[in-house]
Amino acid sequence: MEKVVIIGTGCAGLTAALYTARANLKPLVLTGTMPGGLLTTTSIVENFPGFPEGIDGYELMVRMQKQAERFGARVEFATVESVEVSQRPFTLTVDGAKVQAETIIIASGAGHRHIGLESEEKLEKKGVTYCATCDGALPMFRNQPLVVVGGGDSACEEAVYLTRFASVVYLVHRRDSLRASKIMADRTLAHPKIKPVWDSVLTEVLDVAQDKVTGVRLKNLKTGAESVLDCAGLFIAIGHVPNTQLFQGAINLDAAGYVLRQRGSETNVPGVFVAGDCSDPVYRQAITAAGMGCAAAIDAERYLAGLNQ
Ligand code: NAP
Repeated sequence: MEKVVIIGTGCAGLTAALYTARANLKPLVLTGTMPGGLLTTTSIVENFPGFPEGIDGYELMVRMQKQAERFGARVEFATVESVEVSQRPFTLTVDGAKVQAETIIIASGAGHRHIGLESEEKLEKKGVTYCATCDGALPMFRNQPLVVVGGGDSACEEAVYLTRFASVVYLVHRRDSLRASKIMADRTLAHPKIKPVWDSVLTEVLDVAQDKVTGVRLKNLKTGAESVLDCAGLFIAIGHVPNTQLFQGAINLDAAGYVLRQRGSETNVPGVFVAGDCSDPVYRQAITAAGMGCAAAIDAERYLAGLNQ
């Protein structure tokens, strides 16, 4: 029987792991298919306190894992297939095996939102990608025009990163101003290789017939005009959707799929706690996820202490 099972190894999960490990609860920490979470796909993280020069996202997550393991956290590369929380102890199916737990901390994060075009799906990994740091350096994108879609911090970060490889980066946004933080927006718009394309949405990714990206078809939302922009790659950065399908019907979620919190990190099921992007449609920062992970660990620890009184 596990005292604490933590689902997810992003900032929230690994901080919860660190705190529960230091409380001597020997947490079992399950990575899912993306160990380290979305931050591993970022380049330099400039706003995590304690790193004045910034830190590589992947390195930050490796360090967090090491820190948690140092105190006894057991991190396993494994995927949770189902959870049963209507009975105590809780039962998780993990890669086919049953695991019983007194408490669960859900820190399953969020995944990339897709535009929803058929051509986008068909050309995924053939020039359509959701991660510039993962794919930007591929030979197919070198010295080519590239398109980034979105107007938030992620889109700006991707666009700036891609200037290392691209001949030009078109930043296509559906409005005429960026949502990104001022520092990111200013840096992006000042870059000589980045050309904003305002008030525009993608209607098609070209060219499914050639089985590779050759351009995008755009529609200007103000004028209705359609146009084609030639490019060798499409980087989509239009936000995230919470990874909570697993908990549908078991834990209360809001309409967008975020896990609803009651008091602190408590879900509607006593003994099940939540932290990070899977429960946060507002802040979604590495440091807020880490803070929520800490809170969930403390809540789980207190809950367990209450059970044993
Ligand atoms: P975001 O802030 O939610 O921005 C998503 C962008 O995509 C918005 O500009 C939105 O347009 C656009 N969009 C959404 N759905 C769309 C659709 N179907 N078609 C076209 N455009 C669409 O997401 P994010 O940029 O991934 O950032 C998420 C959070 O992480 C934020 O809190 C951000 O500050 C943080 N973050 C921080 C850093 C950093 O500090 N270095 C880096 C990355 C992310 P509208 O503007 O019209 O809504």
